[in-house]
Amino acid sequence: MTYEIRTFVLTPFEENCYVLYDPTGECVIVDPGELDEELIKFVEKNMLRPRVILLTHGHFDHFGGAAELKRRWHIPIAIHDNDAEFAGKTYAGGARLFGFEVEPVSADRLLAEGDVISVGQITLLVAHTPGHSPGGVTFYDEPNRRAFCGDLIFRGAIGRYDLPGSDERALFRSLREKILSLPDEVVLYPGHGPSTTVGHERMTNPFLIER
Ligand SMILES: [Zn+2]
Ligand SMILES: [Zn+2]
Repeated sequence: MTYEIRTFVLTPFEENCYVLYDPTGECVIVDPGELDEELIKFVEKNMLRPRVILLTHGHFDHFGGAAELKRRWHIPIAIHDNDAEFAGKTYAGGARLFGFEVEPVSADRLLAEGDVISVGQITLLVAHTPGHSPGGVTFYDEPNRRAFCGDLIFRGAIGRYDLPGSDERALFRSLREKILSLPDEVVLYPGHGPSTTVGHERMTNPFLIER
């Protein structure tokens, strides 16, 4: 049970969109922050079959391309209940706050703790990891030791908790209970910046060590 990961760095916020695809071409798109021609070309040239758009949370720099890709490939958008309304409403996940116009998304599937996303050889467990946003989730692949954690934690940093809907205590609880509880070798694929491991962050992340 294996799959490849192709990363596209999108938007002026350098957001990581992850394209997961197994050897047969079954495919999952995580956080398409904007409509990107390179991403579309990559998927269609390799004849991948996207089945679902997974959103780690409802901020516009993570879903700006989602509505358009949903129409193009006729696939559902999945997001946690607590962030769905935010991403679907007038403010479109905070875009206007930063002077951006993005298309809101309507959720086709509402995610909850313990849900399992299964597409071809890709199996991801949904962990509710609020704090940066109320409906933040981490998609955890236990057998392959991978976690797609959105803006919860980065290499050497943690997610902002000063945004509307953020919650500092919830963020640290999520980090403690859902990230630091994972084995050291789990690779973290964050919403911005390079990937890292749980062990590396446990040992060196100043925001975790402080606590
Ligand atoms: Zn965010
Ligand atoms: Zn972000």
